Amino acid sequence: MYRAPVEDIAFTLKHVAGLKSALDAGTFGDLGEDLVDAVLGEAGRFATDEVAPLYKIGDEQGAVLKDAIVTTPRGWKELYRRWIDGGWNALSGPEEYGGQALPTMLGVAALEMWNSAAMAFGIGPTLTMGAVEALDKHASEALKSKYLEKLVSGEWMGTMNLTEPQAGSDLAALRARAEPVGDGTYRIFGQKIFITYGEHDFTDNIIHLVLARLPDAPAGTRGISLFLVPKFLVGDDGSLGTRNDVFCSGLEHKLGIHASPTCTMIYGDGFGGAAPGAIGWLIGEENKGLACMFTMMNNARLSVGMQGVAVAEAATQKAIAYANERRQGKAATYVGAGMAPIVHHPDVQRTLLTMKALTQTARAISYCCAHAIDLARVSAGDEAAHWRDRANLLTPLAKAFSTDVGVEVASLGLQVHGGMGFIEETGAAAFYRDARIAPIYEGTNGIQAIDLVMRKLPLGGGEHVHGFIDELAAVANAVRTSNLEGFGRTADALDKALGELSEATRFLQKLSADGRSDEALSGATPYLKLISLAAGGAYLAQGALADQDRIALCRFFAENLLGEVRALKDRVVDGAESLAAAGKALISA
Ligand SMILES: Cc1cc2nc3c(=O)[nH]c(=O)nc-3n(C[C@H](O)[C@H](O)[C@H](O)COP(=O)(O)OP(=O)(O)OC[C@H]3O[C@@H](n4cnc5c(N)ncnc54)[C@H](O)[C@@H]3O)c2cc1C
Repeated sequence: MYRAPVEDIAFTLKHVAGLKSALDAGTFGDLGEDLVDAVLGEAGRFATDEVAPLYKIGDEQGAVLKDAIVTTPRGWKELYRRWIDGGWNALSGPEEYGGQALPTMLGVAALEMWNSAAMAFGIGPTLTMGAVEALDKHASEALKSKYLEKLVSGEWMGTMNLTEPQAGSDLAALRARAEPVGDGTYRIFGQKIFITYGEHDFTDNIIHLVLARLPDAPAGTRGISLFLVPKFLVGDDGSLGTRNDVFCSGLEHKLGIHASPTCTMIYGDGFGGAAPGAIGWLIGEENKGLACMFTMMNNARLSVGMQGVAVAEAATQKAIAYANERRQGKAATYVGAGMAPIVHHPDVQRTLLTMKALTQTARAISYCCAHAIDLARVSAGDEAAHWRDRANLLTPLAKAFSTDVGVEVASLGLQVHGGMGFIEETGAAAFYRDARIAPIYEGTNGIQAIDLVMRKLPLGGGEHVHGFIDELAAVANAVRTSNLEGFGRTADALDKALGELSEATRFLQKLSADGRSDEALSGATPYLKLISLAAGGAYLAQGALADQDRIALCRFFAENLLGEVRALKDRVVDGAESLAAAGKALISA
């Protein structure tokens, strides 16, 4: 079973993502290493001892809907209660509303552990934390004072209601309506689908953040507003009042994360005899809802990236354990009697090392993204702008690369188990089933790649990304000039990869500048992987420079996996014409 890799996580935070320098510089006030280590250690204990044991029952029982009431699997409600009692929901919440205001870096590290232990559990609070951030940034003082404290503590949970049957990636198509009542409230009507934890028994109240259109709103994304719609209306003293006109009409039967209820939500259908129209309150300004929701979505993108890292970590642990138990064949390195544990076979080692290295690169990218978010928050002026750009650049990488890694590593883990991997009993298949949603939700990975090429490469007049590549090149240089043994051809491999990255980046920037965006977008997905592998290689090297025990894995990555960057660059630079030519044959509509 999963054991939280607290040391590995702490090391990556401190020595790769920059937490140690930030603590030494007093960036986070009096937060010190002792407290960081204590929080990580305790989160690791809770994830290992309390969450992980409930994973299997969650997967097997799933959430169940009866008469508009959703019941979570046996023991999950009590688990949630213990979890909020431990203060975990409030970890990075605003202090003003009872949060501990710890850095995002710590929040995502803890999130990794909850998700490794049970991704269907981790996803619920992720949405609450996103709702807290959106309300804190955009809601009126009246809404904040009524809702934030209970959302920060986790006493109530939050949801994110964007998707409708005809509006998935393209939110311009959404149709849910909001009619002003005249007393400051609105009546919301419409159907939302795929709403995570839209209904459940964890908390007494559920606070939905819902995108809808006002009657005179302009078409497209500029006519979307954001509303807060509670399941139960809340009195001025915080007490729960009338049931609102919103209910769950169906639960999806899914490939994975079975314990996480994925709900069809109906707004304004006169539920339980209520006057039709769910009562909602505007968050931010009319028709500016998408910008407010983006606060929640950006937060959730990094959190979903952590799910990729999390499942990859859990799958790797399980595969290494199995490979040390299962015996088949003979191996040169095995001197014992009988058949060798399969971990002795070089091909199995290659698979396990690929899993380990990919997991660590995805973790490093995600934590570096969190570091940039934190520094943007605590700094000012040009420095804050620099860190905002960095967070913006790294967010699509953290989301898309990490979740692709989650699927790839879970698939490799299943492979290490042989036939038993395909059998549910081992649990390897469950990781694979769970991991598969993460590249889809929170903006598909295809949409992340488009975001990277169209909106993130132009940051800072197109120069921010080159400054980032220069920083990575400095790490390659530090490897070259270090006296440490065991790096092999790491420095050369990194230099080559960063050269390919630089070339591909300039190529895409030129296409965009020339108005040839379709050609640029043809290479978006290979480019996202290219930049992630190159950055990941440099991050592993940074870790290896700080801890010699990490040199071997860094070298394995550089000499075995980084070469793919060349093929990816060819796809970016040479792939568009053939793609367009062959693509025509696919189109019938
Ligand atoms: C288990 C689960 C939980 C979810 N939780 C929530 C939730 O809590 N709240 C919520 O609001 N939604 C939620 N969703 C919805 C999820 O965010 C959407 O499924 C996702 O955004 C994709 O939308 P879609 O399914 O309509 O796919 P589509 O938008 O139809 O996309 C289909 C394919 O086309 C590609 N594509 C679409 N448009 C473009 C384009 N312009 N350029 C290039 N490629 C494109 C996509 O990348 C994808 O591969 C959840 C979904 C699931 C399955």
